[in-house]
Amino acid sequence: MTEPKQEVAFVSGASRGIGKAIATRLAKLGTYVVGTSTSEQGADEISRNLGTGGIGLKLDVSSKDSVTAMFNAIDTSDIPTPTIVINNAGITRDNLFVRMTDDQWDDVIETNLSSLYRLTKTFSRSMIKARYGRIVNVTSIVGITGNAGQANYAAAKAGIIGFTKSLAQELGPRGITVNAVAPGYVVTDMTKTISEDVRKDVLQRIPLKRLGSVEDIAAAVEFLVGTGSAYITGTTLHVNGGMYMG
Ligand code: NDP
Repeated sequence: MTEPKQEVAFVSGASRGIGKAIATRLAKLGTYVVGTSTSEQGADEISRNLGTGGIGLKLDVSSKDSVTAMFNAIDTSDIPTPTIVINNAGITRDNLFVRMTDDQWDDVIETNLSSLYRLTKTFSRSMIKARYGRIVNVTSIVGITGNAGQANYAAAKAGIIGFTKSLAQELGPRGITVNAVAPGYVVTDMTKTISEDVRKDVLQRIPLKRLGSVEDIAAAVEFLVGTGSAYITGTTLHVNGGMYMG
């Protein structure tokens, strides 16, 4: 009997937080994981963490050249082409709109939204050929509700939802599902600077009375790339303890 072919997953921003949890979880399930970090050191650490279960590569998702270099590195290596793509990397550059700088706007739109255009376009070619694929885009509760001080971030995250639905319609006939996961407030480097007052206010609005863990989000991603979600596409799965009920 031949062994089933090992699946290969690409996870952007796998060095820390949610991306690291997703990469670790998928690798534990037997998927080979290509995870990325913006630094050489971060990429090495990903390789160390994944061991034989995957590899870390350097990538700045906001740079076209960096995306091209990473694809060339994959093409010229013996890494099989991924049929699972998790667009997770993201940043915040918060400011009230009237004070927001062009750089704060551009950095967030490039890193959190335009990056999905570039990465997904290239990866989807091989998925179309394979007539199979799973794409999961990490958006945010804020992409639905908006948030004062995050006009750039909310616009990018709302954009991801429209992007997801459109691609789901285009790629569905090719056997590729495209879904989004929308975390609420999750304990990571991204949220560690939130003041105690804001944290208390957020907790009050969460029926399940705790902030999310990276594992909560990784579990949702596992579901969306697994066989149990084969008939789900174009959806946004909210993982927020009930803070927003879509
Ligand atoms: P972290 O700040 O903990 O980690 C961010 C990850 O993204 C790191 O691996 C980082 O790499 C990578 N990254 C940042 N900039 C770039 C770039 N230009 N190119 C490539 N990779 C980059 O974030 P979280 O884990 O909290 O967030 C992950 C995703 O979840 C993001 O899209 C975020 O918007 C979303 N999210 C998070 C929530 C939360 O409460 N934490 C809530 C809702 C959504 P490196 O280590 O090399 O810098």
